[in-house]
Amino acid sequence: MIQQPALEYLAHGQVPFFRLPSVPRPAPLPDGTDAVLLGATWDGGATAAPGARFAPFHVRRVSAFVQGFHPVHRVAVFDRTGAVDGGNVAFPPFDPAAVRGRIEAEVAAIAQAGAAPFLVGGDHSVALPALRAVARAHGPVAVLHLDAHLDTSGPELWGEPFHHGTPLRHALDEGLVLPGQLHQVGIRGAWGSPEDAAPGEARGARITTADALGAAGAAAVAARIREAVGDRPVYVTFDVDAVDPAFAPGTGTPVPGGLTSREALALLRGLAGVRLVGMDVVEVCPALDHADLTSHLAAHLLFEGLALRALRPGEGRGARP
Ligand code: MN
Ligand code: MN
Repeated sequence: MIQQPALEYLAHGQVPFFRLPSVPRPAPLPDGTDAVLLGATWDGGATAAPGARFAPFHVRRVSAFVQGFHPVHRVAVFDRTGAVDGGNVAFPPFDPAAVRGRIEAEVAAIAQAGAAPFLVGGDHSVALPALRAVARAHGPVAVLHLDAHLDTSGPELWGEPFHHGTPLRHALDEGLVLPGQLHQVGIRGAWGSPEDAAPGEARGARITTADALGAAGAAAVAARIREAVGDRPVYVTFDVDAVDPAFAPGTGTPVPGGLTSREALALLRGLAGVRLVGMDVVEVCPALDHADLTSHLAAHLLFEGLALRALRPGEGRGARP
C-alpha cells in the first residue's frame, strides 16, 4: 500500500498548528503537555454556507507565522504550555451523532489528562461535545461565548435539535454551565422573535451586545467577566462571526456591526488570571475568506487563549494517558 489509509490521513492534518510537535491522537501526550490543539473538520451543522470543515487545514497553515513569545503577558506561550498539535479528530463525515461522540471522546481524553483542549472547528455545533467533555472532567464551567448569535435555539426552527444554532441551548439544558455563568459577547443583528433571548435569560445568561462592548471598551468588559467568573473553571467558545465581517469575512453567517479584531484580541488578553480549561474557535469558512484574514485572526485568537493557559499552567494536571 502506497497511500496512508484515509482516516490516518485525516487524523494527521498538515503543517502542525504553530509548528508545534505533531502528536496525532491516540498517541500518548508527551510529559509536560498542558495544551492540545485539535481540528474538528465538521460542518454538517451549518444552516447556511458550509465549508468550515476546511478551517483546521487553513488555520494550521497560517498559524506557522505566529511566534511564541507574548510581549504583553511576558510569557513564552508554547514553552510554558508544552502545547502540541493533536491532529484532527478522525470521523467519517456522515453521522452527526457519531461525529459528536468522537469529538467528545477525544476532548474528554485530553481534559481528563489534565491538559486544556483547544478545538478548531468546524461549525459551532462542535462546541457541544467539547463542553460535554470539559464538564465531565471539571464539572460545570463558566462559559464565555463570543458570537453575533445567541445559539440558544431549539428544534422549532428546523425540526432538528443539533445544529450550529443550538449548542448553548443544550449546554444550559444539560447543566454543563454553572448557574449565571454564561457570558455572551458580540450579540447583534435581527432576531426571529422577541423571545429569542429567553432560553438564556431564564438561566441568568449575561449578554454584552457588540454595541455595549464598543461603548464600554474591551478591557472594561474583560474586567467585568474576570470578576464574575472568579476562580471558576472557564471555557471560551469563540464563533468568529462575533468579529465584524470587515475583519473576519470568511464565515458562513456574517452580521455587520461586530467587534473589531483588535477588540476581540484585547478582550481575551484582558482575561489574564482566569482559570481557562478549554477553548474552541469555530465557523471559519476558508472558501469565503479573503487573503486568509479570518484564518489569521483565528490563529491569533488561539494564541491569546494559549497565553491565558500559559499564565496559569497545569490546572488540574494529572497523569498522562
Ligand atoms: Mn454566529
Ligand atoms: Mn455560533
